[in-house]
Amino acid sequence: MATVNSLPNVLTQFEAAAERLGLDDGTRRRHLACDRSLIVSVPTLTDDGGLKVFTGYRVQHNNTLGPFKGGIRYHPDVTLDEITGLAMLMTWKCALMGLPYGGAKGGIPCDPRTLSRGELERMTRRYTSEIFLIIGPDMDIAAPDMGTDEQIMAWMMDTYSMQRGITVPGVVTGKPLLLGGSLGRGEATGRGVYYVAVEAAKFLGLSLEGARVAIQGFGNVGRTVARQFKEEGCRVVAVTGSRGGRYQPDGLDLDRLLTHVAEGARPEEVPDGDRITNTELFEVPCEILVPAAVAGQVTEANAHKVRARILAEGANAPTTPLADAVLREHGVLVIPDILANAGGVVVSYFEWVQDLQFYFWTEREINLRLREIMSQAFKRVHAAGEQHRTDLRTAALMIAVKRVTDAHRLRGTYP
Ligand code: NAD
Repeated sequence: MATVNSLPNVLTQFEAAAERLGLDDGTRRRHLACDRSLIVSVPTLTDDGGLKVFTGYRVQHNNTLGPFKGGIRYHPDVTLDEITGLAMLMTWKCALMGLPYGGAKGGIPCDPRTLSRGELERMTRRYTSEIFLIIGPDMDIAAPDMGTDEQIMAWMMDTYSMQRGITVPGVVTGKPLLLGGSLGRGEATGRGVYYVAVEAAKFLGLSLEGARVAIQGFGNVGRTVARQFKEEGCRVVAVTGSRGGRYQPDGLDLDRLLTHVAEGARPEEVPDGDRITNTELFEVPCEILVPAAVAGQVTEANAHKVRARILAEGANAPTTPLADAVLREHGVLVIPDILANAGGVVVSYFEWVQDLQFYFWTEREINLRLREIMSQAFKRVHAAGEQHRTDLRTAALMIAVKRVTDAHRLRGTYP
């Protein structure tokens, strides 16, 4: 299925919340304008002595509540619009979760799987140098997203530190532990998806014991979601990567799948169950469906085929507004991205706090605090949904947009 640009959908979702909040035109415009969008050229020497010139983006949407915060994406579909939509989602996500951050996002259109380690390192370092002036632990803090990982964060941190002449761990989160990373950060997004799904299941009176889970995307988020649900007694019946995957109605052999994928196989190549396409994944009978890949996967064309009770958005912007309406009609409870996948930025916040204090917490402390924050956020959003008689996405956005609006009002407009 083709990836769509998430920006128009994010704007439509924002308008629905702004309308409910009764925001005036000026306030809406202020929310929709990005504080700063930087486009940089990233010349990179290739291993064969050639030169590739990539384009890098860093969009800083709004920093009313605190320093900008947001991931870096390396994926062929990266565009300025896509990054802008994702930066806006970060503003709402941080506001919803009560974190002292604004929203940002960055990325480079590229396929990291086709670059050597050396090329990836040189591209990352040059990109970091090009955005150096607008990032920093009290200005804009990066993190991993699709196609980036803790090694890339280590190179970003090192490049920034070299230019400053001091070691600055707090400029990125999602770093290796040895460099000031946090325990539990790698698994935080997937764990968070599980914690909110537990709350949603309680509300629906749905038992998770033996519940069937289908997951699109088998990267950082998708793999942790799979592990977490399996550990808690669910059956992971289907997973797909970018070229499709596997379906086994009784539950896939997850250990085998994880081992094969860790050895470099793609999910569809693992000999277990039947082969399915990315499109078929959304039609699989299951209780919980987790899109954990790219935007625009659940559309008006396939939403009526979704047979899950709960759709928990591990990915950012996987469901279009038209699909939202269809899912609502069919009684599928959608836990929106800014709530469902917020575990990553919550533990990123923990990592940043630990870096600033040079004092590190235990994994138990981190997971307990994460669970508490995710469960409380679900309850808050659910209660707002009931109060305003609206879906969880609009309710979550109303809470978030109201917080940013109130902060704008308190700070006033300079000069
Ligand atoms: P990742 O790069 O580790 O994994 C991405 C997965 O998606 C891979 O399995 C890849 O094969 C698959 N994929 C890529 N393009 C696809 C396509 N067109 N169709 C189907 N599958 C495709 O990335 P990740 O960190 O797991 O992020 C996945 C999603 O979760 C993204 O939307 C990201 O923004 C969101 N997210 C990630 C974090 C985090 O902490 N990593 C936090 C919040 C949200």
